[in-house]
Amino acid sequence: MARIVADDINSLAMADPFPSLSLSLVLTFAFALALLAGLVLNFWLSSRQIRHVAQHRGQVPPAFAQTILLSAHQKAADYTITKARFGLLELTLGAAVLLGWTLLGGLSSLNQALLGWLGGGMGQQIALLAAFVLISGLIDLPVTLYQTFVIEERFGFNKMTPKLWLLDLLKSSLIGAVVGLPIAALILWMMGATGSWWWLWAWGVWMGFNLLLLLIYPTFIAPLFNKFVPLEDETLKARVTALMKRCGFAAKGLFVMDGSKRSAHANAYFTGFGASKRVVFYDTLLAKLSAGEVDAVLAHELGHFKHKHIIKRIVSMFALSLVGFALLGWLATQAWFYAGLGVQPNLGAPNDALALLLFMLALPVFSFFIAPVMAHFSRKHEFEADAYAVRQTSGPDLATALLKLYEDNASTLTPDPLYVKFHYSHPPASERLARMTS
Ligand SMILES: [Zn+2]
Repeated sequence: MARIVADDINSLAMADPFPSLSLSLVLTFAFALALLAGLVLNFWLSSRQIRHVAQHRGQVPPAFAQTILLSAHQKAADYTITKARFGLLELTLGAAVLLGWTLLGGLSSLNQALLGWLGGGMGQQIALLAAFVLISGLIDLPVTLYQTFVIEERFGFNKMTPKLWLLDLLKSSLIGAVVGLPIAALILWMMGATGSWWWLWAWGVWMGFNLLLLLIYPTFIAPLFNKFVPLEDETLKARVTALMKRCGFAAKGLFVMDGSKRSAHANAYFTGFGASKRVVFYDTLLAKLSAGEVDAVLAHELGHFKHKHIIKRIVSMFALSLVGFALLGWLATQAWFYAGLGVQPNLGAPNDALALLLFMLALPVFSFFIAPVMAHFSRKHEFEADAYAVRQTSGPDLATALLKLYEDNASTLTPDPLYVKFHYSHPPASERLARMTS
């Protein structure tokens, strides 16, 4: 259990030899430095992206001159620039809030207040987690509101009414509480009751929970937000079924989802595993693509399965979280971990909820720098899925489908190459089309 004894705290304040004090200072310094470095890097990359897109706004790239209208190209440029600018504002705000929680003492004060009110125990720990989630959610609210009702609205993507938005918020908060609170309580209990190997048990439970979520999401949670009706178009159904058979796939069902209820963005996905596996087409996708193009898009998704991208992603998520839990298991017992991040640990009461929150807050600041590695593998997988789709269906169909989707989503055709390397999970259209036709 993450209990801190008085000696650990005293060593923070004692003179010679200062082991914990120096470690906590090192952590404070490293944390502030990583946060600042991340901000600077992001500002630099985004300003490159904004400049690059603005410079190419005047003309459709020659390779697309026949297929993309100048007006669509310019809309994509404006949308990209608007989002990049807003992203920077969001980033700055996020950094300020993070500093507020950590080094400026927000989390520590919240913890002390709840401790004074509820005493130390499971109730206080759960209250701390819940209060943190609630406050963070409230702080994020204006950001999501602006994104949906100003930015997406301005570019004609938002189809949500304020009423639907509010209903979504209530539903997801309720689900979050119903699903999240028991699992949080279970993990906190394990942290306190299963000894110094608690993190291994907690990791097992966390992985089981994620697998369960994957299993029940398509059948129980997604239908709370959208209507799923079986695909009715017989010709398309026959085509898609034939394609899946050809590729050696069995899925429980083909469904159409009313994505148009919220957004004009189009998509298709493959979801669940085992018996709950299903293919879901957004109605917005079916409205925009021909039958051959739908086939090609689905073949791309099947390509992800054939190349085991999903399994690879799940396995690497498992491995990474094992490392994360082990690290947390060690950090939670170190007084400098709390002190270095601006929190006064509890004496004589469990620090497990504090440790969890601090870890979740601090980790992204450091793990941000591996983002390009993740993005690299993601783009590699997209190329592989494209190649599979070209082999199974028609290259020209996939090319026109992709172009329609890039155009409809107002994805710029001229992103900054370095920005792409860092942030893009999908390769730019030009690179994908070039690979397909080469
Ligand atoms: Zn893909």
